[in-house]
Amino acid sequence: MKTIGLIGGMSWESTVIYYQLLNRMARQRMGGLHSARLLLWSFDFAEIEALQAIGDWDAATIAMCEAAQNVEKGGAECIIICTNTMHKMADAVQAAVNIPLIHIADATAAAIRQTSAQKPLLLATRYTMEQDFYKGHLADKHGINVIIPDETGRTLVHNIIYDELCQGIISPASKQRYLEIVENGLSRDADGIILGCTEVGLLLSQSDFDVPVFDTTELHAKTAMDFALDS
Ligand code: GLU
Repeated sequence: MKTIGLIGGMSWESTVIYYQLLNRMARQRMGGLHSARLLLWSFDFAEIEALQAIGDWDAATIAMCEAAQNVEKGGAECIIICTNTMHKMADAVQAAVNIPLIHIADATAAAIRQTSAQKPLLLATRYTMEQDFYKGHLADKHGINVIIPDETGRTLVHNIIYDELCQGIISPASKQRYLEIVENGLSRDADGIILGCTEVGLLLSQSDFDVPVFDTTELHAKTAMDFALDS
């Protein structure tokens, strides 16, 4: 089994899900006392969020590249960035190390391709929904064109991520708001839902919807475990 290097802490509320999923998958696939070989770099998310908020993506990129180099030095054989948003600098992170970066949007696209979804709704941070690094990656590399909520919906989705989910607050009222935003997306012909923030799975799951749901945290962890086990 190869060692997976995780760049996490963004937030740790989702990194802990990665940790649990990877270990459970190792046990399911290998049995007994097997667990995942992992090396975790966990940021203080307040420092990263401050850089995001002022748009200092250059400083954030330097921090991400250093984290990747640290897990590589520690013996990691691949890198996973445990957040969709911080794939904004995925190319720079990949260029900074000699081990492969497993891209969360590639893992997600592979799952979308296995369904009939053509026009999934992307629920994510404002950065991921509005900038091109994620939507563009899905479109250019995989031919998948997503739709995003309207301005009011995007603000709500974004604020609930940072003000609640990343702080461990799970609110039924916020779930209701997310459901309304999805309802609106479905009325605009969305035929799938991308949980495009690694914390959104704390509020929504496949059991809430009839259309296919793509939980990026789960799909990313599974793709990393496939790599670790060469399967
Ligand atoms: N974990 C979130 C994501 O998947 C948001 C936090 C962050 O900005 O990294 O995008």
